[in-house]
Amino acid sequence: MSGLHIPTPMNPMIPRTLFGPEHEDFRRTARRFFEEELAPHREKWEEQQHIDRHLWNKAGELGLLCPTMPVEYGGSGVDRLYSVILMEEQARAGDSASGFSLHSDIVANYLLNFATEELKQKWLPKMCSGEAVGSIAMTEPGTGSDLQAVRTTAVADGDDYIVNGSKIFITNGYLCDIAVVVVKTGDPSKGAESISLLLIEADRPGFSKGRPLKKVGMRGQDTCELFFDNVRVPKSNLIGMEGMGFIMLMKELAWERLMIGIMCAAGAESVLAHTLDYVRQRKVFGKPVAAYQNTRFKLAELRSEVQIARIFIDRCIEEQIKGTLQVDAAAASKYWVSDLLSKVVDECVQLHGGYGFMLEYPVAQAYIDTRANRIYGGTNEIMKELISRTF
Ligand SMILES: Cc1cc2nc3c(=O)[nH]c(=O)nc-3n(C[C@H](O)[C@H](O)[C@H](O)COP(=O)(O)OP(=O)(O)OC[C@H]3O[C@@H](n4cnc5c(N)ncnc54)[C@H](O)[C@@H]3O)c2cc1C
Repeated sequence: MSGLHIPTPMNPMIPRTLFGPEHEDFRRTARRFFEEELAPHREKWEEQQHIDRHLWNKAGELGLLCPTMPVEYGGSGVDRLYSVILMEEQARAGDSASGFSLHSDIVANYLLNFATEELKQKWLPKMCSGEAVGSIAMTEPGTGSDLQAVRTTAVADGDDYIVNGSKIFITNGYLCDIAVVVVKTGDPSKGAESISLLLIEADRPGFSKGRPLKKVGMRGQDTCELFFDNVRVPKSNLIGMEGMGFIMLMKELAWERLMIGIMCAAGAESVLAHTLDYVRQRKVFGKPVAAYQNTRFKLAELRSEVQIARIFIDRCIEEQIKGTLQVDAAAASKYWVSDLLSKVVDECVQLHGGYGFMLEYPVAQAYIDTRANRIYGGTNEIMKELISRTF
C-alpha cells in the first residue's frame, strides 16, 4: 500500500450521533476536494512551501471557506459541524499543507465576533470567497507560550498606530492578505492589559514577509515570519477595544484548542485505517503481519484508545455548539488527543517495518506532520497548566 489510496476509517465501536443526513453532501464535497486537489500534490506543496494560491479561490467557490460565517458576510451561515467536517476530511486525506481551518475558524471568528461592522463588511466576504487569505500573528521570536510578553508595539499617532516588531511561525503568513496581529497599545512593560488586536493589511508599507520556514514536517504549509517596520495602520483597524486583546484571545482559545483535538482524533483514525490495510497485505514468514497476536493486540489497544478519544471529542464538540465548552475540557482535548496521535503514529510506523520510514507511505508522512500538534495552539505543557488551575 502506498500512494494515494485513502481508506475509509473503521466504523466506530460506538456510533457517532453528531451528524445528520444534511451533512453528508457537504462531507462528500470536502472529501473530493482534499483527495483530488490537495493530497496528490504533496510534493509540489513541499517544494514551494505553500499550496497554489488559486486553491483558496476554488475552496471559496465550493463553499469550503468560512462556512459558519453569516450569509450577509458571504458565508453559508451553517453551524460548526460543517467546520468539523472540513477538519476531519483534511486529516483523513493526510493534507498538512492547507491552512484553511485557521483562516475560516480562527481568523474570521475574531472579525465576526469583535471587529467593527466596516471591517466585517470589507473583509469577511473576501475571506469567504478566497479572495483574501487570513493569518493570526501572536508568536514572536522572543515569546510564544508567554503571550503577555509580546514586544510588538502599536503607538498612537493621530488617527493611526505606528506598528513595530516581528512575528514568527505564522501559518498562512506567506500568502496572507490580512493578519490579525497581537500588539501592545499600552505600556509595553505591562502584561495583558496592554494587549490589543489589530488587523493589518499585508500591502501596507513597512509590512514584510520572510521566506516560508523550513520545517521538520508539514513542509507544504505556509509558515513564515512577519516584520513590521513603522507600519502606519488606521485606528479603525482595531479589533475590539484597546487593552481587550487578551480577553478576546481567551474567549476564542477554547475552540481553537478543540480544533486541534478534532484534527488529531480524525488523524489517528486515518492512520489506523492505513495500517490495518497494510498489515493485512504484507506477508512475513508466510502469513500477513495482521495474523500475529502482537499486531492484533497492538491494533486492538490503539483502536480502543482512539475510540475513547472520539467519544470525548464528540462530547466537546456538543459542548462547544451549546456554548458551554469549559477551558479544562478544551485543553484536555488538545493535549491528550495530540499525545495519543503521536503514540498511534509511532506504533503504526513500527507495524509497517521499513516502509513506515519511507515518505511515500501515509504513515511516514503522518510521523513528520503530526508532531507539531503537541507544540502549537499552546504547548501541551501549557494545557496541563490550564487544567491544573481549575482544581
Ligand atoms: C507549525 C507551526 C505553526 C504555527 N502557527 C502559528 C500561527 O499561525 N500563529 C502564531 O501566533 N503562532 C503559531 N505557531 C507558534 C506556536 O503557537 C508556538 O510555537 C507555541 O505557542 C510555543 O511557543 P514557543 O515556540 O515560543 O515555545 P516556548 O514558549 O519557548 O516554550 C519552550 C518550552 O517551554 C515549555 N514551557 C513554556 N512555559 C511553560 C510553563 N509555564 N510551564 C511549563 N513549561 C513551559 C513549553 O511547553 C516548551 O516545551 C506555530 C508553530 C508551529 C510549530
